[in-house]
Formats: sequence, C-alpha cells, structure tokens
Amino acid sequence: MTKAVQSQTAGLLAAAEQSVLFTAKRPAVVMERGEGMHLWDTEGKSYLDFIGGWAVTSLGHSPAVLQEALLKQSGELVHASPGYYNKPMIEFSQLLTRISGFDKVFFASSGSEANESAVKLARKHGALHLGGAYEIITLTNSFHGRTLAMMSATGKAQWDTLYEPKVPGFIHVPINDFDACFAAISSKTCAIMLELVQGEGGVNAVDPAYLQAIRKACDVYGIMLIVDEIQTGLGRTGKLFAFQHYDIQPDVLTLGKGIGGGYPLSAMLTTNKFNLFEQGDQGGTYSGAPLGMAIGHAVVQEIVRLGLAEQAATVGSYAISKLQELARAYPLSNIRGKGLLLAFDVPEGSGQPLVAQSMEEGLLINAPRPSTIRLMPPLIATKSDVDEMIRLLQQALARLSLAAS
Ligand code: PLP
Repeated sequence: MTKAVQSQTAGLLAAAEQSVLFTAKRPAVVMERGEGMHLWDTEGKSYLDFIGGWAVTSLGHSPAVLQEALLKQSGELVHASPGYYNKPMIEFSQLLTRISGFDKVFFASSGSEANESAVKLARKHGALHLGGAYEIITLTNSFHGRTLAMMSATGKAQWDTLYEPKVPGFIHVPINDFDACFAAISSKTCAIMLELVQGEGGVNAVDPAYLQAIRKACDVYGIMLIVDEIQTGLGRTGKLFAFQHYDIQPDVLTLGKGIGGGYPLSAMLTTNKFNLFEQGDQGGTYSGAPLGMAIGHAVVQEIVRLGLAEQAATVGSYAISKLQELARAYPLSNIRGKGLLLAFDVPEGSGQPLVAQSMEEGLLINAPRPSTIRLMPPLIATKSDVDEMIRLLQQALARLSLAAS
C-alpha cells in the first residue's frame, strides 16, 4: 500500500469526522467497492462479507441484474408521481403476491415505514371492526425500526427512556410465553406484531406451537396478526418467507432489506380481507416509484430463479455444522438460527473484540449483543465461502487467545 493511498484514507476519515453527524462508532476504514461476497476499502484491503449490508445485499454486492435493471429503468422512467400507476409497480406487486400468497401490496422505502403501514392498517381495522381498539402487542427484545412509533413498538430496554414521550398503544410481552401474550389481549387489542426470528435481538426464533396458538387467539378475537419479515424475508431463513416454517398464514407481512438487494425498498402485504385503507389514509412520495420497483422486481425474480432460499437452507446447515466443529476448540456456544440468519454466543464482553479482530483478518461479522455474534451473509454464499469464513474466524479467535475451557 502506497503512502498516497494511506493519506487519501486518512483525509477521508478526517473529513468524515468533520461533516458526518455522529450516530455510531465506525471502524477507521472507508468502504469503496463491492463485488459478490466481498467489499474493498480505500486501501485495497478485501473483506469477506458475512454481514451482507445488514441482511440487505441478498444477491451479493453490485449484482449484474440490479445494475441492468437500474440502467434500463433509469433510461425509461425514474419517477412519475405516486399519483399514477406505473408498469414496474404493477409487475412487482404481481410477483410479490404470486410468491407470497397475499393479495395486495403497499410499497415504501424502509422497513420502519412498512411496519408503520402495518400498524396504521391494524388501527384502521380496530376502528372499523373492533370498537376503536388500537393497542398492538409486540415482544420484548424485538426490533421494528427507528421511527418514533416503531421505537415504541420495539422491545429494547435501552430505548425505554429515549425520545420521550413514546407513541402510546404498544405492549411488550416475552417471546414464546403464550400465557403472557394471552393475558395482554384486551378489548383494546387490534393486532399482534412479531418477528419470527428476532434478528437484532440476537437471533431467537419463535416456537411453532406458540405461534400457532397466537394465530388461533387472533382468529377467535378478530385480532390482526402482523409478521415483520424485514430481516427474515425473501429466502434468508431457508424458505422464501419465515412464516412458511410454521404452517400459519399471517394477515399482514412486512418486507424490506433483501427485496431491494441494496436499493432502499420495503413492502407491506395483506389479504383482500384487510384491504381497508380509504383515499388519503396512507401514501408517500416514493411509494411504488418506477426505479425502485424495477430493481425490486429484478432482485426478487433472481432470488426465486436461482433458488436462493433453498441454497440458504443448505449452506446455513453446513455453516452450523462447521461452527459446531469450531466450538470444540473455541468458546462458541448456543449456535442457532435458520438458513443464513445465524448466531452464536461468545464469553461475555468478547463480541466486539472478536468483530474487530475478524475485520483485521478480512472478515465482516456483527455483534448485536455484547456476547452474541450474528452472521447474515448474502444469500449467494456457498459452502466454500463458509469454509473461508471459518478459517478467518478461527484466526481471529486464536489471535484473541479465546480457547474453549
Ligand atoms: N424490522 C426488523 C425485523 C429489522 O431487522 C429492521 C432493521 O434492522 C427493521 C424493521 C427496520 O428497517 P429499516 O432500518 O429499513 O427501517
């Protein structure tokens, strides 16, 4: 690496410090290029990406289909106005309803907005059919986004006193405790909203019997069941949708992250029964805008065409077996997850040091909690990418002198 390259990076980092508003500690690198499973920084160092842009780059970095769709659509129509239908919007909504079994789609840009739409739809349902019921039951340790209402929906202890006052009407109950959920249901309840595998909460899955009991309770009381598949959707868990592991049909499904492959895109899907919005109830300047719709259509079509959900199931099982082997020599425990949304625990406090050391070795992983490591690579990851991930992880564990006791 030349001195000029080093000083270019130093200059960029100084400029970042000067002008980018602080919201998160970031390592002292500047990412410049991505291709497939790898990212490169401004010093030319490459990283095997097992964060996948935070479960976003489903087809890997800069996939050809995304580039082609972007180029083609940007030459035809970038934005027409949310007041008009456009061809890519119609094609993409047809594709999503066909593969999911839902009837209708509303498009937005971020996961938080898709969840906001779901909450609005639930409150509309409460107003129309449940005597004004407005409360939504969600889980402790859940994550539903960063808008003010989604911060209220999220069950994160660190946010309890942040940005008070909270949006009212959200009740949190522990995961996999049906009695607690049942006890929280009242005449004010209009919906239950769940992640089926809590991603930011550390990769905790709901139990099938628990979810099936919740589905039954929703049917009995006319409550809407919303599943937040912003992180688990479109192949990540080894099926196109995580709810397909559970033999239930939700009333509302939210998608984001992977459906745009890196382009900001989200969707809320529902059934004809809950086709309840009236003129002006919901919208957004960028809802269904053609450029994003063409990209989403191309990305989702490619995930389906390549069978990436099935591949995620196979490669994910392989990764679990390899992590279990590694756990014989290093202190990895509670290896868990579905498909390519995986996690394991490390000794208290060693999550961040392991993330930092892995980055030194050229591997990107994430610690959603101080003692939990999460893996959410692009869905194109192969067994040999897993082998390489294990090799780099083992190097990082060895350098940190973390050994099984
Ligand atoms: N819901 C879940 C399950 C998520 O994991 C996230 C983001 O991590 C969100 C919602 C929020 O999505 P966004 O950051 O795109 O608003």
